Amino acid sequence: MSREEFLDSTRSYLMQQRDLFGNIVYVEEGKKKAPAGGAPVRGYPDEPWVAAQSPGELYDGIHECLKCPLGQTRTKFVFGTGSQKADVMFIGEAPGADEDAQGEPFVGRAGQLLNKIIEAVGMKREDVYICNILKCRPPNNREPLPSEMETCSPYLLKQIELIKPKFIICLGRISAQWLLRTNDALSSLRGRTHEFMGSTLIVTYHPAALLRNPNWKRPAWEDMKMFRDLYEQSKLKEGS
Ligand code: URA
Repeated sequence: MSREEFLDSTRSYLMQQRDLFGNIVYVEEGKKKAPAGGAPVRGYPDEPWVAAQSPGELYDGIHECLKCPLGQTRTKFVFGTGSQKADVMFIGEAPGADEDAQGEPFVGRAGQLLNKIIEAVGMKREDVYICNILKCRPPNNREPLPSEMETCSPYLLKQIELIKPKFIICLGRISAQWLLRTNDALSSLRGRTHEFMGSTLIVTYHPAALLRNPNWKRPAWEDMKMFRDLYEQSKLKEGS
């Protein structure tokens, strides 16, 4: 790489960082590793979608779901978006107003920030898969109820089974605690890796939380760098 190319790429990296995190440059710290864990897979064994062979077939089988009251109040069923061959799956909480209107996860302000986070680790939104624990919007953006997550999460587990991502990134406490079946605080779940259905699961802050509290952007960036390093290592291993 020539000096000019090096300076150009450094400049564009720093501008991207400034867009994301403001005028602070974060430096890397050490990493911790967690013991393996994971939740049992549950489902509705008698329903036809359980045998779906692709996300499209799964969508066809579940998008008219009325298993919980959120089915009555939704505008659109928010299934998930992205590459069906994605190595990385981002899992949020539940659709908000914008997502409910458009039928796509993370399209509002938090979604714009998520797009920047994805780009900051050298990926594009269309290369990854993005979905939520709940497929329908809870009224007034309240937190998902355990009963709603219990009812809806078999759909997510089937999505994971079909897409088989190498990495799952849980956005925020709700999805992480639910999938890992724990009440541990986000602060103790992030900064290390977990195992879930054969994927490496990483926990970080929800982009909406980062919009509310910019102090969390630094640790969120550390999580994403940990992910990027692990992802690069996995690609190297694949090539060798
Ligand atoms: N917050 C989420 O958790 N998911 C979305 O799709 C949008 C906002």
